[in-house]
Amino acid sequence: MRSSSDGAGPDAGPPHVLVVGGGISGLAAAESLVRADARVRVTVVEATSRLGGIVGTDRSDGFVMERGPDVVVAAKPATRLLCERLGIADRLQGTQVRGAYVYRAGALRRLPAGLSGMMPTRLGPLATSRLLSLRGLLRFASEPWRAAAAPGAAGEDESLEGFVVRRMGREAYDRLVEPLLTGIYAGDGARLSLSATFPQLQSLEREHGSLLRGLRARAATGAPAPASPFLSFPTGMQELVEGLTRALERTGRVAIRTGVPARALRAPGVAGPALTLADGTSITGDAVVLALPARASAALLAPLDSAVARDLRAIPHGSTATVTLAYAAADVPRALDATGYVVPRIEERDALACTWASSKLAGRAPAGMALFRLFFGGARRPALAVLDDDGLQALARTELREVLGVTAAPRLVRVTRWLDAMPQYELGHAGRVAAIEARAAGLPWLALAGNAYHGVGVPDCIRSGEGAAARVLGWLARGVDAPVSGAA
Ligand SMILES: Cc1cc2nc3c(=O)[nH]c(=O)nc-3n(C[C@H](O)[C@H](O)[C@H](O)COP(=O)(O)OP(=O)(O)OC[C@H]3O[C@@H](n4cnc5c(N)ncnc54)[C@H](O)[C@@H]3O)c2cc1C
Repeated sequence: MRSSSDGAGPDAGPPHVLVVGGGISGLAAAESLVRADARVRVTVVEATSRLGGIVGTDRSDGFVMERGPDVVVAAKPATRLLCERLGIADRLQGTQVRGAYVYRAGALRRLPAGLSGMMPTRLGPLATSRLLSLRGLLRFASEPWRAAAAPGAAGEDESLEGFVVRRMGREAYDRLVEPLLTGIYAGDGARLSLSATFPQLQSLEREHGSLLRGLRARAATGAPAPASPFLSFPTGMQELVEGLTRALERTGRVAIRTGVPARALRAPGVAGPALTLADGTSITGDAVVLALPARASAALLAPLDSAVARDLRAIPHGSTATVTLAYAAADVPRALDATGYVVPRIEERDALACTWASSKLAGRAPAGMALFRLFFGGARRPALAVLDDDGLQALARTELREVLGVTAAPRLVRVTRWLDAMPQYELGHAGRVAAIEARAAGLPWLALAGNAYHGVGVPDCIRSGEGAAARVLGWLARGVDAPVSGAA
């Protein structure tokens, strides 16, 4: 079952894998495929004119402005390991300041020291942060003595909000944990599934009978904290995409087709599975990795398996808009001595968070300039993600005026929208993904990758692409008869 590309028909050449989607998941899958097997050829098909998907950096006038992610979590090793293979590990850059603020009742309060996985663990710093009332502090302090949920007592799947309120109290959730944890998904903690978003918190309660005891034990015995908890690159996250692209091109075995969406997918025939592209051409291969947003995968899979397409469409997605603004540093009347601030839902502001980009990472703005990035929309205020540019810019300027006292006009403004781009791991997510994987196992020449299944962060997406590559290689090694599971 060997085939050639562009409809030239089957031949006995080297195995050919079609990777649909040129975001970080698809590029990681392609890199894994060509690295693992020197015979494999890969064609990457990407709908837009550039690779990287949500990962992308605008570099202009001396500014480095992220369109999507600005950092990766250092504790997840997938990014560093990939960078080492790509020869760009020396380009990894830590944050230049530590800590952040949380907005509370008209002022910014420093996040307390002793956060572990963004959860407070120490009473003293929490008390001096003045984020919680005395009553809220006492409730937090009582956590180790609260009974752990009996297995299954909180239902098969508990919400993030339900869990943290049950363990640490309403105030600790509303004023501190909610903006930190739900912000990653731009989601609603009452709907996000604990087991799908932060399974480690559930395990800590089960193993230690208390979240605080578990977090403290993990901090005492776990791996030492990395020098910087977050990593990026001197000229932005796009460096990761560029490193991957160079590595793929160097092999001479990867064809990259940008600017042309895949429109249809055909199950294996004489010439293996085939993709029809929007320009009317088709490509045949021996196996397919769909590294796409869930709905785009659903559209391609619907004619082959309507149930898997239905389950893929059932994963809700949220939208966000970011507004990046540059100011003369002299126009900013307060010290930018942190990575930025987050805004709890209960504060009822329009912005979700504000990153002080030029403080967070070196080299983001020319000397004498300050660069901010504000986040809008998400589950909290979905309508703001589709507001026009002028409206978003006005909201961003109001936020900076009211919170930081910035009244000057910005020197530069960039608006980026990500519509339906952020999967929401809501209650029942793990079950939905298990059903998708079980159905997809019936299409053994196919593997799914992307941010919709087992993690939305860049390191999770890299692992997802690598997992999909492993499944496809297993299929190629075993031949057409042996099934492999479908989703990474
Ligand atoms: C604003 C924002 C900030 C974020 N910040 C962080 C952060 O700081 N750290 C972090 O770790 N993560 C962050 N994330 C999450 C992370 O960036 C994403 O989850 C990840 O980049 C998704 O990668 P992906 O390859 O799975 O999907 P995508 O990047 O969505 O790639 C999918 C690709 O498929 C293409 N495509 C779609 N349909 C077709 C088709 N029919 N044919 C061919 N191609 C198609 C798309 O054009 C796209 O390029 C952020 C996300 C957003 C939106």
